Amino acid sequence: LDLREEDLEIGKAMGEGAGGSVVHAVHRPTQTPMALKFVRADSNIRQQILKELQILHECNSPYIVSFYGAYLKDNGVQVCLEYMDMRSFDHIYRKNGPIPVPVIGKVTFSVLQGLKYLYEDLRVMHRDIKPSNILLNSLGFIKLCDFGISKEMVNSIANTFVGTASYMSPERMNGGSYTVKSDIWSLGLTLMELALGRYPLKGEGESMSIFEMLSYINNETLPQLPESQFPPGLCDLVAKCLIKDPARRPALKDLLDHPYARESATTKVNVEQWASTLVVPDF
Ligand code: ADP
Ligand code: MG
Repeated sequence: LDLREEDLEIGKAMGEGAGGSVVHAVHRPTQTPMALKFVRADSNIRQQILKELQILHECNSPYIVSFYGAYLKDNGVQVCLEYMDMRSFDHIYRKNGPIPVPVIGKVTFSVLQGLKYLYEDLRVMHRDIKPSNILLNSLGFIKLCDFGISKEMVNSIANTFVGTASYMSPERMNGGSYTVKSDIWSLGLTLMELALGRYPLKGEGESMSIFEMLSYINNETLPQLPESQFPPGLCDLVAKCLIKDPARRPALKDLLDHPYARESATTKVNVEQWASTLVVPDF
C-alpha cells in the first residue's frame, strides 16, 4: 500500500493519549478505514522514529494491529494503523459493563499470543499493556497496539509523559531496570479490570502519582479476583501476574503453560457474536 497523505479522508477524533491523538480516516483509493495516530516528536528524532517504524511493515500477526505506513507531519509523525471498529476494551467495558468471563479467556489468549510475537519475532517489549491498548473488531479479533517498537518514540513519549502510574510494575516505578516481566504485571491488572469492570486498585488510578502508587503497592495487600465469582484458574493467573517481586513473577513462557491459558487456547468462544451485541462508543 503506497500511502499518500492526500489520499486520506480524515474523519472524527477518537481520543487523546499521553503521546498524541488518534483520528479515524479512510484511504480513498482502496476504501480502507484507518486509525491515524499522531505522535509529537522533536525535529531531530522524527526521521529516526520513521526509520524505526519501518520494521512494522514486516509485522504480521492476527494478535497485533496492522501497520499501513507513517509519514512526517507538522511537529511529529503520523502513524497509519488498522482501524478496529469496536475500539478498545476500556471504552467497551465502560459502555457495556464487565467483560464476560469467556471473552476474558480470549483476551488472555490473544494478549499472550501478541506478546509472544512481539518478544520472539520483533524482539521488543510492549511497555504499555492496558485496556485502551487492547482493541476489538466486529469480526471478533482481539489485537494489541501501541507497543514500544521505536526507541526514540518511547523516549519522546516518556519525556512528555506526565500521566499516571496506573499499570506500571513496582520495579519500573522504582526506576530500576525492568524487563518483559513488567508487561506481565500490567496484564494482570488489565485482566482484573476487565473482569470487575473498574480499575482494581485503590482510588481512581488515574489520579495516583508514581509515589502514591508505590507506597500503596509496598504497604497494602493487593486485591484479588474473588474465586466465588470467577474461574479459579483466572484468579490464579491474575494473582501470579501481580507477584510484586519480578524474580518470582512468571515469565511469558510460564504463563503460556498456565492451566487457564492452556484452557482458553482451546475453548471455543464466539467473540464475533458477542461483539455484535455491544454498544459502540461515540467518537
Ligand atoms: P490511550 O491508549 O492512552 O487511551 P491513545 O492515543 O493511544 O491513548 O488512543 C486513544 C483512543 O483511540 C483509544 O482509547 C482507542 O480507543 C482509540 N484507538 C487507538 N488506536 C485505535 C485503532 N487502531 N482502531 C480503533 N481505535 C483506536
Ligand atoms: Mg493507546
